[in-house]
This record gives sequence, C-alpha cells and structure tokens, in this order.
Amino acid sequence: MNTDHTFVVIGCGGIGSAALYWLSRAAAPYGSVLGLERHTPGHEHRAGGEHSRVVRHARHQDAYAALAPAAYKTWRQIECLSGQHLVTEAGGLVIEDVDARRGIDTGSRTVEGHLEVAARHGVEVEQLDAEALTARWPQFRLHGSERAVYQRHCGIVEARRADATHVALARGHGAQIRENSPVRAVHDAGSHVEVVTDDEVYRAEHVVVAADARTNEVLGGLFAQVGRPALPLTVTQEQVTHYATPNLIDFSPERFPVFMWHGADTFHGVPVHGEVATRLGQHMGGHEVTADSHTDEPDPLRRKRQEEFLAEHLPGFGGPELYTRTFLYTIAPDQNVVLDTVPGCPRVSVAVGAGNASAFASLWGRILADLAMTGATRYPVDAFALDRPALTGPSVPRPSEQRGRTPF
Ligand SMILES: Cc1cc2nc3c(=O)[nH]c(=O)nc-3n(C[C@H](O)[C@H](O)[C@H](O)COP(=O)(O)OP(=O)(O)OC[C@H]3O[C@@H](n4cnc5c(N)ncnc54)[C@H](O)[C@@H]3O)c2cc1C
Repeated sequence: MNTDHTFVVIGCGGIGSAALYWLSRAAAPYGSVLGLERHTPGHEHRAGGEHSRVVRHARHQDAYAALAPAAYKTWRQIECLSGQHLVTEAGGLVIEDVDARRGIDTGSRTVEGHLEVAARHGVEVEQLDAEALTARWPQFRLHGSERAVYQRHCGIVEARRADATHVALARGHGAQIRENSPVRAVHDAGSHVEVVTDDEVYRAEHVVVAADARTNEVLGGLFAQVGRPALPLTVTQEQVTHYATPNLIDFSPERFPVFMWHGADTFHGVPVHGEVATRLGQHMGGHEVTADSHTDEPDPLRRKRQEEFLAEHLPGFGGPELYTRTFLYTIAPDQNVVLDTVPGCPRVSVAVGAGNASAFASLWGRILADLAMTGATRYPVDAFALDRPALTGPSVPRPSEQRGRTPF
C-alpha cells in the first residue's frame, strides 16, 4: 500500500465522498487521492445514511441562499456525468404556528425571515395564511394561527444515492478508498501532513477532514499543535419514522410538499418517496450523545410527540410504523456549517455539516477541493469560517439550550 498521497480525505460520508470526487477529478493524472473510512462507504450509521434529505433555494440565512444556485448546478452536473437521478422537485413549505411560538426566541427563523432572504436573492416564494394553506393542501388540520411560506423549487436530494455516485465517480478518476480504517490522529509535519491509522502512517500534501461527530476526535492532536481548543460541537441523537400511510396518492410528491413545522416543537416531513411511506422527524428533539454512546434504539417519547402532532395536524400522513431509525446531528452553536482550512495549518481543511450538509453536499466537496488545491475558493463561505465568533467566543448558547431554533 502506497502511503504517500497528494490528498487524503478522512471520512467518506456525504461531504467526504463529494470531496473525494472533486479532488480526484482535479488531481488526475498527476496527483493521487486516498479516502480513509472508519466503516465502509455507504454504511447506515452516517448522518445522511438515508434515501432523502431536503434542499431549498432560500432558507432564513443569506449565506445558504447565496450558494444555492451553485449547489443546484453542481447536482445537475453530477447527474449528467453519472446518469443518476439525484434531485426530485417536490415543493417545500415552512409553516409557523405563531401562537405556539410566542415567547420562543426564533431569530430570523420566521416566515418573514424566509420571505426577506427569498426577496434579496430573487427566489420565487408564496406567502399563505392558514385558510389558503388548507385550501391548497386539505391534508392539513390547522387552528388558524398558522402561516407559511411555499417554495416551488424545493427538492428532495437522494442522499444515499448521491454518496454512492460520488464514490463511483471518484474511483473512475483513480481515487482509492481504504475501508475499516479509522483515523486516530492528524499531525502537521511542516512539509506534509501525517495521518495516523491503526496500521499505517500516511503522508499527504493536503488533508480534508469530513468526520462529522468525530471531528474533534480526529483533529484533537492537530488543534493542540496549533494552539486552539476543540470545536464547540454538540452531538444529538435524532430519529425519523417512516409511516406506511394508506393515503399514497394524497401524500405523493406531486400532491404534497416537503415541510418544516415550527410550533412548540419543530417537525420535518417528507412525502412518499424512497420508501412506500411518508417520513417524519422532530428536529433537535433528541438528547445529547457522543459518536460512541449513540444507540439504534428509538426514543418512545419522540415517537409519542410525532404521533400527537400527526393526530392533531396531519392525520392522513400517518399509518402503521414501517421503521424508525436514529441518526446523529453534529451542530455548532450557531447551527451553521463549518468549511475552512485550519488556521495555523492550511494543509488541513475541515467540514462539519451541522444538520445542513446533504442539501449542498456536492458543492461542499467542490469547495473543499478548491481549498485543498489553492487555499481559496471563489464561493462566498465567510459565514462558515473556523474563526467566526460562534466558534471562538464563549457567549453563544449551545443548540440544546436554544430549543425551538432550527437550521432549516
Ligand atoms: C434526521 C436528520 C435529518 C436531516 N435532514 C437534512 C435535510 O433535510 N437537509 C440537509 O441538508 N441535511 C439534513 N441533515 C443533515 C445531513 O444529513 C448531514 O449534515 C450530512 O449527512 C453530514 O454529512 P457528513 O459527510 O459530514 O457526515 P457523514 O455522512 O456522517 O460522514 C462522516 C463519515 O466519516 C466517517 N468517520 C468518522 N470518524 C472517522 C475516522 N476517525 N476515520 C475515518 N472515517 C471516519 C464516518 O464513518 C462517516 O462515514 C439531516 C440529518 C439528520 C440526522
């Protein structure tokens, strides 16, 4: 096994597989690209290890809206190169129950916040009150205090398929992947970077770290070397349930959109897609865990909260439970993505998805490839820097202390 590589990517999940592809495409035929994966690419326990994740042109933050056109274009490119269908347009609703949200600090995560960002970035959206909402989607049962913003060009990313596509395309450009190779440490050796696994020490000109909940574990040694503390990341155990609804037509993507519901709790829902079932999850409803302590065991309390929400607001969406799966969120205090080179060691770049990464995964990989190849990118990513106040200052509460706030 050759241990010297131009680029080493640590973690071959959603972001890492994309970085692997964009790097291998840029590096071939002069440089070599190696992916090191703790398990196997496509393993079920990664954050995006499911068939679908939601992508929007405009959310409540300008930083994502500014990148959305490039993210969609990048997906189209990957679709054309691979012949794989990766993004399905379904339309998307963000619904806010104003009465239930009274007293919760929502920041710009409101219908107005979404409308303002959409207006600034020229994204076509519609504003609806409760009456207009139920006239259009009679599947909902509303109290009247709800309002919504609808985005027609909102889609479902085939997350699992996208990861596999990036891996296949990367291999086509000569990238190698070593499975079952957990990285234990990364060191700056001046002229190169050392990447330590259980049986090898690899040398690379540049290293990309995309290890999600294990980011601090992988980078702890390097952070100590450059004199910075660990990233203030919170890991929570989330879960989603697939319901075998008998109302397939009513909840097909042609008739029913993806949605975020901001009430006393926040829920995210996806119409029948990927499985012959609908999908619902509570956003940040889970308890804090670590990558080692998380379990596959669903939490009955969240199951109950979901069932109560469906009974009250969306009765036809439910049905016998097909299955419930648990996943990890790895969230920075401002709930934003991390995408940067490590200050003090520009040979290492890092990405953390923060509950947001699948939607733009291919673009994040492309940006990481830019950073690795040239140290800079033409895309506007200042909001995702490692030295932003939310990651360096003590004042921002951790996500678990800001219940009711959502990155979507
Ligand atoms: C319930 C839920 C719903 C979500 N919905 C959305 C959504 O609608 N839209 C959206 O954009 N995002 C969504 N997200 C977030 C999105 O899924 C994640 O941000 C994204 O999948 C993270 O990708 P990643 O590559 O950083 O992590 P992962 O895909 O988890 O990949 C990390 C990889 O690193 C590997 N690894 C870890 N440690 C090591 C090591 N030491 N050595 C080698 N390899 C290592 C892991 O095995 C894994 O394969 C959701 C997340 C959850 C949990």
